Formats: sequence, structure tokens, C-alpha cells
Amino acid sequence: MKTADLKKIRKSMEKELDAKRYEHTLGVAYTAAALAMCNDVDPVKAETAGLLHDCAKCFSDDKKISVCRKNNMEINSVESRNPYLLHAKAGYCIAKNKFDIEDQDILNAILNHTTGRPGMSTLEKIIYIADYIEPSRKQAPNLSEVRKLAFQNLDQALLKILTDILSYLESGGGEIDPLTKETYDYYADLLAEC
Ligand code: FE
Ligand code: FE
Repeated sequence: MKTADLKKIRKSMEKELDAKRYEHTLGVAYTAAALAMCNDVDPVKAETAGLLHDCAKCFSDDKKISVCRKNNMEINSVESRNPYLLHAKAGYCIAKNKFDIEDQDILNAILNHTTGRPGMSTLEKIIYIADYIEPSRKQAPNLSEVRKLAFQNLDQALLKILTDILSYLESGGGEIDPLTKETYDYYADLLAEC
């Protein structure tokens, strides 16, 4: 992947996203690049995934649904009740078809950035975590602890984020996608074995 591609993607995102979402996107991109550097992952790949992870976030709900339908992406019941969740699946389709991203690891990082999944790759974990800790995020609980942990141990940071997200959702913050719970169970088991 060439650096010129990054410039092009950045310009497109600036046009496509609202100001706040663009700021968040840049934060995710450089946080992901930094995390990539301490985990032997190609920082350009991480920056690419970071720049594109929310590329469908500003689509209308109807557009998110139609992009997913057109590309035969399955829409589960939680997603049909909460179409904003579909920005990850729609974003995957846009990254692949409009930005010609062929690297499956980058595509998976975009696809799985809202729920996570059991057995994530290092790049997928990096995007998931960068999305949560990037500097313009202000509201999450334990943010300074998670930020520090992210640069020490990706799995532990991931589990801490999943724990906090689930307890927020369980206390009435929103509906839980079953994949978030599966991801939590997987990493809770994995880390309990260590
Ligand atoms: Fe997102
Ligand atoms: Fe995001």
C-alpha cells in the first residue's frame, strides 16, 4: 500500500464525514498507527483501516440498509432495530468496492469494529481499541486506565473495554448485539487461562 492512497482516502473522508466524525476518524487513524508500531503490525495498514472504519457512519439508515442488502450482508434483528450498527457492515462494502481495499485483514478490522469477534487478529484489536481510546473520546469510564493498558497489553485492554461496554448496555444504555457478548466470553476465558 502506497502513501498516496492514504492521502486520497483522507481527502474523501473529509468530504464524506461531518466535522466531528472526521476528527474522530483522524484520531483513530493515528492512534491505530501508534498501537501498530508497538505490536509489529504495519502502521500504514492500521492507518488505512482507521481512516476507513467509519466511512459509512454518516449514511442515512436507509442507505446503510440498502448498501448491506445489495452486497448480501446479513442483517440481524438487533441491527434491524438499531440500523446505526450497520455502519460497520456497510463500511466494509464501501472500503472494498469504492476504495478497492483488497487486504482482508483491513476489511475485517472495519467489519468488526463495533462488536468485535472471538479470535480477532492483532489489526482488528487495534482498530477496536483505537476507536474507543482516541484522544477526542471523552465519556467512557476508566478511559485513562484503558489508554495506558492499550499500549501495554492489547488483550487486557480489549477485555476491559468489552466489560465496560457490556455493563453500560446492561444498565440500560442500549441493546446488546450477541456478538459483543460472545467476544467478551471468548476473551474472558482466554485471559482466565493465562
Ligand atoms: Fe464506528
Ligand atoms: Fe469510530
